[in-house]
Order: sequence, then structure tokens, then C-alpha cells
Amino acid sequence: MKTVKLANGIDMPVLGLGVFKVEEGAELVSAIKEAIRLGYRSIDTAAIYGNETSTGQGIRESGVPREDLFITSKVWNTDLGYEETLAAFDETLRKMELDYLDLYLIHWPVEGKYIDAWRALEKLHKDGRIRAIGVSNFQIHHLETLKKHATIMPVVNQIELHPQLTQKELIAYCAENNIRVEAWSPLMQGGLFNNPVLQEIAAHHGKSVAQVILRWDLQNDIIVIPKSTKAHRIAENMAIFDFELTPEELTQIDALNQNLRVGPDPDNIDF
Ligand code: NAD
Repeated sequence: MKTVKLANGIDMPVLGLGVFKVEEGAELVSAIKEAIRLGYRSIDTAAIYGNETSTGQGIRESGVPREDLFITSKVWNTDLGYEETLAAFDETLRKMELDYLDLYLIHWPVEGKYIDAWRALEKLHKDGRIRAIGVSNFQIHHLETLKKHATIMPVVNQIELHPQLTQKELIAYCAENNIRVEAWSPLMQGGLFNNPVLQEIAAHHGKSVAQVILRWDLQNDIIVIPKSTKAHRIAENMAIFDFELTPEELTQIDALNQNLRVGPDPDNIDF
């Protein structure tokens, strides 16, 4: 699996498996084992997904050594705070039956809470319990605020990003600040498969629309974590390293932007 070097020197796979909306149980355990068998090395979960136990089980049962895998989880909004976040992290490791995480993220930038939570992530990182720390759904102004308080800056910002929400300004800011961008809902939760521009590009390459979108991310240095529990789709989403989009095609895809979110607006979160 191709990797990128994060600002703190550790390698992160450019493609991972997302497990949002997959319940605890056998389906999730087998999806994770299948993904790892096919060559995935990165799994993205979160405390709020309520599936950390099965995620951990799939990882352990994969047969691949822990140090060859890259595991991400996220601290939920109600656990933001110094002591609260330390406790939430312990609970995540307990459920996953893991000794450490590769990446731990603040899930949403809840005003008045994320600075204290960030101090907890810095401590966990310094204690060697998380190899890299980052954020999710942070806008430029959240990152600017964090910069005033942080001793370590986030190395990843995981944000909603797909052809109808291209996030160019935030991506440019992250690039200038050595923060890798990771796309959540890269397939817009299935909302782009009938798009004629994407369909035409896909037909031209003999690839699916999903593969074209994920390839567009890779060629823009964006890390992706598409979600599926179906073996054939998990395989399909990995077959993106054997073709290349032209500069014209990349521009055509960029032009699909409508600043359209399928998830919440980080500046207006009410959960
Ligand atoms: P996604 O864009 O990955 O789309 C998933 C949907 O597309 C599923 O219904 C799946 O069955 C379908 N699909 C996947 N591959 C396909 C293929 N090749 N062909 C046809 N259909 C296919 O949506 P997502 O799950 O919301 O996002 C991916 C991951 O991002 C999540 O699982 C989670 O790990 C992460 N995420 C993070 C946040 C956050 O706030 N940080 C929010 C949402 C999701």
C-alpha cells in the first residue's frame, strides 16, 4: 500500500477503509479482515460509530502484525476536555484491545472545548500512546486558533471532501501548514454515481465512477477512506493505482464543485 509521510515523519497509507454506520458484529469483522487481506493497511473508526470492539477484533484476527497497520479513531464531542479526552482515549483502546493508536482525531471543533482536548492529545502523543495526532472538520479559523495554543500542530485534518465540495481554500491552507488532508465521504455517500461527467471519464478509462473519484483524490495528494462492507467494492476501491487521470480530467472534476455538503457544517454544529 502506497503511503505518505506525515509532518512528524510517520508513514500513513493513502487509502484506508472507513467504517461509519457499520454496527458491531460479524459483518464488520469480516469486512476488515477482507480489506486487510486485499492489502488495505489503514482503518478509520470513531468512538461515536459505536463499533470499536468489532473493529479491534477484525484487526487482531487479520493475522497482519499490528505495526504494519495504521489505525485511526476519534474523540467524540461530549468527551472533549482535558481529563475527559484522556479517559475517552483509554476507553477506545480498551474496546479495541489495542496498546496504541496510529492517529487520533478531535472529531468536531466544538467551540470552547477543542483546545483542552488538544492538550490531552499532545500528552498522549508525548507519552507514546498515539503516533500522530490530528483533527477533523476543522476550518481555517479553528486551525488558526489551535496554532495559538498548541505545542504540536495537527498532522492531519479529516474533512468532508468530494467533487461537489472541493475545499480548495482549506486544502491550500493545510498544504502551507504541513497538515495532510484526508477526505471523508469521498464518494459523497453514493450521491455521485449518476454524474454524467464522472461517468464519461470512467468509461474512457474502463473504470468505475468510484475509482475515478478516489483517483482524483490521490492525484491531488488527498488521503481517502471510502466505506464499504462488500468484498467486491472493497476490492474495487483499491484498484486505483493502475491508471492516471489527465490534467484536463482533473480540471473537469474540480469544476463539479458546488460547495455542497452531505454532512454538517463545522461552523454550525448542533449535536
Ligand atoms: P462514502 O463516501 O465512503 O460512501 C459510502 C457509500 O458508498 C456506502 O453506501 C457504500 O456502500 C457505497 N460504496 C462504497 N464503495 C462503492 C463502490 N465502489 N461502488 C458503489 N458504491 C460504493 O461515505 P462515508 O462512509 O460517509 O465516508 C467514508 C468514511 O469517512 C466513513 O466510513 C468514516 O470512516 C469517515 N467519516 C468521517 C466523518 C467525520 O466527521 N470525520 C464523517 C463521515 C464519515
